[in-house]
Amino acid sequence: MNFDQNEVKELNKEFHKSSPKEIIRKSQNLFKDKIVYISSFGIESAIILHMISQIDKNFPIALLNTHFLFRQTLDYKNKLIKSFNLKNFVEIFPDNSNLQKDDPNNNLWISDVEKCCELRKVKPLNKFLKKYNAWISGRKSYQGGERFDVQPFEINNGKVVVNPLANFEKKLVLLYFNNNNLPKHPLVKEGYLSVGCTHCTFKPKNIEDPRSGRWINQTKTECGIHYKKD
Ligand code: SF4
Repeated sequence: MNFDQNEVKELNKEFHKSSPKEIIRKSQNLFKDKIVYISSFGIESAIILHMISQIDKNFPIALLNTHFLFRQTLDYKNKLIKSFNLKNFVEIFPDNSNLQKDDPNNNLWISDVEKCCELRKVKPLNKFLKKYNAWISGRKSYQGGERFDVQPFEINNGKVVVNPLANFEKKLVLLYFNNNNLPKHPLVKEGYLSVGCTHCTFKPKNIEDPRSGRWINQTKTECGIHYKKD
């Protein structure tokens, strides 16, 4: 099912006051088995994973594994999948021949973070998404930066991107974790507020801006999978 910008606008009008769970349910009704949640298994990922587990434990879920993830993230992924009893999970890896050609020493991140993200995240995701019409992302408008105007439904690179937490309030995150007794990412207790690859994740410079620990001292603020393309 292909959507155009007008249809997405209508969906946003209809669902701008809906709960994240209603948005996930609507998306599943619209896209059937052609929608997948791309989860980072980061600090707040347990929220959407928990909601999905209450809707359909066979909902497709995928993690982009760049080979540079924290061990704690992989442990957390195992823990959440087991405790939510999620049945349809896969990991997406970068293509080995592309790695050998473009990053044979695994150090491209030092000289060119854009190319490194392209190789380890954007290309593998685009290849994986060929079999889907839509995907779910965990972006929220309160995260600011390029996310400040994120809408529940968007079109990017020919796919519908569903952001169930687009209008979720920051204060509700902790409440949701507490009310549902969700386990926290192991790096939270060490002071991390946003977690990606080991090479590009630091503790936040500004506690009010959780993503200020990502790509520190670089202009980059997003990994590239959310860059807008027609
Ligand atoms: S976040 Fe850093 S290490 Fe990970 S893919 Fe992007 S540039 Fe490479």
